[in-house]
Amino acid sequence: MAAMTSSFSIMRYTASTTTRAVRVLGTAKPSASIVNFRRSLCRISATNNEEATAKAAAANADSGAPTIFDKIIAKEIPSTIVYEDEKVLAFRDVNPQAPVHVLVIPKLRDGLTQLGKAEVRHEQILGQLLYAARLVAEKEGVLDGFRVVINSGPDACQSVYHLHLHVLGGRQMKWPPG
Ligand code: 5GP
Repeated sequence: MAAMTSSFSIMRYTASTTTRAVRVLGTAKPSASIVNFRRSLCRISATNNEEATAKAAAANADSGAPTIFDKIIAKEIPSTIVYEDEKVLAFRDVNPQAPVHVLVIPKLRDGLTQLGKAEVRHEQILGQLLYAARLVAEKEGVLDGFRVVINSGPDACQSVYHLHLHVLGGRQMKWPPG
């Protein structure tokens, strides 16, 4: 809670600082340094927002409550499906971080809210998910270079507690990741 409060305080601070900067500038075209300053404030704000969202999501992680992905599996809400078989569903991320950004999920969660909860009985589905990620990369034409990411837990900014692999590609990836 303390962390969330401080994130919101930072967001409020950044919003008011940006407003003040805009007031000072009036209608004049902002200088490059002001534009860069605003961009860095936006980045700080987005990062804190992500972290607050992840912490809130983690609080419900093991409640067994359905997630948004259950609705996608049931086709109750629309998604752009890239690959599907009996066990696995792959669909485009609604907020893509690269030209190719596909989520690969098990159709049956079976306790796999996050990778950190995996047990020996999950070995087969974990292998199937990884192989499906490769099939997605091939279908999307990024086999020459793609990244597979699994965010597990609040410190990794996981926001949906149904195990998923992010398949990212179509642009030059950087290292280390944020
Ligand atoms: P996480 O932050 O848990 O690693 O990733 C969750 C991902 O799910 C995020 O990249 C987010 O954009 C994506 N996502 C959340 N809600 C939806 C949705 O309703 N539809 C789709 N296609 N993606 C979603």
